This record gives sequence, C-alpha cells and structure tokens, in this order.
Amino acid sequence: MINGLKLKQVREILGLTQGELAEELNVSQSTIAYIEGGYLQPAEELLQKICDVTLFPRSFFERIEVTDFPYGSLLYRSRASLDASEKTQANRYGQLMFEIAEKLSRRLNSPQFSLPKGKVDAITRAGITRSNLGYVPEEPIDDLIYDLEKKGVLIFNSPTPLSKIDAFSTWAGFENKKPVIVLISAEDQTTYRTRFTVAHELAHLMLHATLFGDIHEFEREANTFAAELLLPAEIMAGLIVGPLSLLRAIKIMEEWKVSIQAVIKRAHELHLITDNNYKSLYVQISQQKKKIQEIENKVPKEKPRCLRAMAEATFYPKKINYQQLAKDVGLPIPILKKIIEAQANKEEYTRSNVTPSERKVIKFPENRSFSYHLTDEDIDEDLSN
Ligand SMILES: [Zn+2]
Repeated sequence: MINGLKLKQVREILGLTQGELAEELNVSQSTIAYIEGGYLQPAEELLQKICDVTLFPRSFFERIEVTDFPYGSLLYRSRASLDASEKTQANRYGQLMFEIAEKLSRRLNSPQFSLPKGKVDAITRAGITRSNLGYVPEEPIDDLIYDLEKKGVLIFNSPTPLSKIDAFSTWAGFENKKPVIVLISAEDQTTYRTRFTVAHELAHLMLHATLFGDIHEFEREANTFAAELLLPAEIMAGLIVGPLSLLRAIKIMEEWKVSIQAVIKRAHELHLITDNNYKSLYVQISQQKKKIQEIENKVPKEKPRCLRAMAEATFYPKKINYQQLAKDVGLPIPILKKIIEAQANKEEYTRSNVTPSERKVIKFPENRSFSYHLTDEDIDEDLSN
C-alpha cells in the first residue's frame, strides 16, 4: 500500500504539477489526483514506473507517517510577488530535511530548544534573546547560526536555491514542536545578509508562532527584532555620534557583521543621523559598491551544520555511508547526498573566536559524542571519559 500524500510530497519536491507527472507516467491527471487523495492504489506496473521516474524508492511511498510541517512564515509573503508552486517547493524541501533530522535525532541526544518565548514586544524579546545567547549588549553577535543551533533551533540549507525566497521558518512536528529555519538562497547571499534573514525568521518563530494577524505588521516586527538583536539601539547611540562617514559605517558593518545598508538604515531609524546624511551615504555606497562588495565577500559564510553533524555522528568514526543512510531514511542517494552536502562540513563551521573548551560536546547513547563542531580532539576526549 502506498501513501498518497508521499506521492504528493515527491511531486512537489520535483516541482511538477499533477498534469506534468501524469504525462511522464502516461496516465491521466485524475489518476494522479486519485492516488494522492488516497482513493486509488496504483497497479504494480504503475508503482514501478513512479519509482523509476521520480528516483524515489518504493519504501518512501509506503511510509505511513507524514510529518506536520506547516508553511510558517511562507504565509507572510505577499501573494503577488511569489508563485504558489515556489512556496510549495520550498516548504517540501524543508519538510524533507526535517524528516531526515527527525529520523537521525532518534539515535542522538540533540539539543532541545531552550530560548524562552512569550508575549513581549519585539524590542524586549530581542534583548532577552541576546542575553540568552550569552551576549552583553556591547558585544556583536559572532556567529548567529552557530548560536541558534546550539540552542536547539534546526537550521537547514536548501540544496536548491529558488529565485524569490531567501528563507522561511516554521514550528514542525506533531508533539514537541521544533523550531525550524530553512535557508533557501543563502548560497547566493553574503553572510551579512544571511544573518539578518536568520534573525528575521527567528522573530517569526518567537513572536508570531500561534498568532493570526496583520502580515505587514508581522514583517515590520520581525525587522525590528532583527535590527535590535544585531544592532542594539542603546549601543548604536553611543557608536554613532554626529555625521556618519562612509568609512565609519564600513567599520561598524565589519564589527557588527551586518550589511552597510542595515547600518545606515539603523542609524536613520534611530534618528542618529539626519536625512541628508542618510541620503548622501546611500549615494556614496553606490559609488563604492565594488569595494564594499569585496569586503563583504571576504567574510566567511555562516552556514548551518546540524543536519550534516547528525549524519556524521551516526556513522562516526567512519565516514557517512550514504547507501546505508539512504536506506534508513528512505530517500534516493543523489537527493540525500545533495541535501547533506548543502550543509556546512567541519571545516566550514568555524567560529572566529571560539576556544576549544567552549565547544561543548553533546552526549548521545553508546558513548558516542556529538557536537556541531565535532573535532577529533573532542571525540577522543569524550571516549576516554
Ligand atoms: Zn518575514
């Protein structure tokens, strides 16, 4: 017996309409609709053809469980600028990565989400979040993705960039819902931009999870939260006194790891610079575009690692056995590999000023150790304990 919803999931991952898949399979569109709706079981021959065409194994379609993976902040995007199939495809990739993480995490002792939620305004929440992440207001956030993964936020990098979506977030799973941020087009963005995006999505997770309301207001609040988290108002007021020069703005950009536009916008919205200063900085930015881009491109990418670390920990001390993993999670090897390799490896996941002792190793059964850094020393040390 196959689960129609699984066929729907695969079709949407592949970005196909019912009609397009039907054509590939040489059946009518209504046949696909009936199978997906659970009204029809495909004959043996058709099922084989579905597997051949989609490259997904039979076991994937036979799975009964379907994870709850809502659209989350994808719903806050204006309909006009985004076509529905891109939203669906983004969501389905997120779901697939979440399902892999769920499967792997059963064998691991992964961190549980530990940032308090609750109803406070965006600015207060940003301040509380900062201190929960271990920062004093004077201190720029070093690696936001690392800090959030350590706090149990699942962050995934999508293997397929989509043109109009940079990221989305959602609370996923039936019981014990987990916060998930899916980066869709991080590869094409600078780290500075990605950090703001991640902070923005974190705001949706913490402030808008169960609320219905004005989506424009949600967007404004998420930006307020992100700006306060990355560039606290109180500290900015001390840093930006009098007219702001481009050179000084660049310095703040590098130190606080946000885009130059974010620095200038922040200075303006906090009334630290005049309208004229603001406008003139924008002109200067466009003149110095190349130079600023050069600086931004030199910054190492912040990239999520949790999913890859989970896969590595599962097979440690050996390398990831993709054949075995594909069997375990019921996915075709090429898709699985593409997903895992879209996440940061050990070398890519280096935090500038973290000392080895800060790299906490998270224990999981069978005396294996699991950490998002997973350095060899960590493991040796852990095994000898
Ligand atoms: Zn948003």
